[in-house]
Amino acid sequence: MLKLGVSYYGNRIPWRVREDLEAIREAGCTYVVHTFSEEDLEFYQPAMIEIVEITHALGMEVWLDPWGVGQAFGGETYSSLVAKDMALRQVNSLGASLPIACPNQPAFRDYLLKWIQAAQRLKADCLFWDEPHFMIYPEPEGDSYPKLWACRCPACQERFRQKAGSPLPERMTPEARAFKEDSLVECIRFLCDATKAAGLKASVCLLPVEHSSTVNDWAKVAAIESLEILGTDPYWRPHQSDVAPFVGRFARRIHELAARFGKEPQLWILNFRIPKGEEARIREAIEAGYKEGIRNFAAWSYYGAAYTSLRAEDPAAVWNTLVGAYKEMARR
Ligand SMILES: [Zn+2]
Repeated sequence: MLKLGVSYYGNRIPWRVREDLEAIREAGCTYVVHTFSEEDLEFYQPAMIEIVEITHALGMEVWLDPWGVGQAFGGETYSSLVAKDMALRQVNSLGASLPIACPNQPAFRDYLLKWIQAAQRLKADCLFWDEPHFMIYPEPEGDSYPKLWACRCPACQERFRQKAGSPLPERMTPEARAFKEDSLVECIRFLCDATKAAGLKASVCLLPVEHSSTVNDWAKVAAIESLEILGTDPYWRPHQSDVAPFVGRFARRIHELAARFGKEPQLWILNFRIPKGEEARIREAIEAGYKEGIRNFAAWSYYGAAYTSLRAEDPAAVWNTLVGAYKEMARR
């Protein structure tokens, strides 16, 4: 079965959101990925309750995304969590405290459990664990052991000592790099288990980049039992000019892994910061994924992210291209 989605953020006035959700439904979408930020949790829950209700009433599934929560997931929005509780923060290899929460910090895990409980109360169907990562410093290709890295917070140091029997080194080593990846995988497992325990579906989106601050061995995540949907977001701008081969390569990778571990593969399609005239590439990307067997697509974000700093140059053309490609797939 074809599953089509789009992410939605920005507007928090339910009767205005309804118009957009109706357009999303009209486009053939079967689900909406609503961002659910720290600010939404603290301030906009009454609106979120209605937004979720409207989405359901239109016959679509609701996914919630911890957008920018602790800055440890994908998302441009701010985190007040890392300002209010300095103990949650990652610490870099020079000892500096960073404005991003550490996945190994028990208090951050506690916050995420509260977020899951709130998502459950809102009656979400699926939780979207998007791009979990440590602090991402620029890392030239081939520089596997950069001098500047995170995290060396007390929780990471204690955890490493327990596992390795030696102190967490200041200069990155193969052991420290593996520790970081295993920490992310362990945190994802913790989140997926908690999601499943709350009666919701768990999905993950893995960054399609080789970096010491992301998960590089995707099989470790695919193997998580409580995970249902395994996705990636091979966005071709600003670095990739060959859209179909680039997207196709990651679609194949996610499809193969999903098949091996009995998960559903999901592919994210770039729908932001697209220059005018390049909209046809959206169709190329979707086609490349479809050819590799992907049947669950989502686009970031609704209407070319027209209401954000990620705005496409011609948001209407981006949206119309996406809708055309979605409708064409649905007819096959
Ligand atoms: Zn840490």
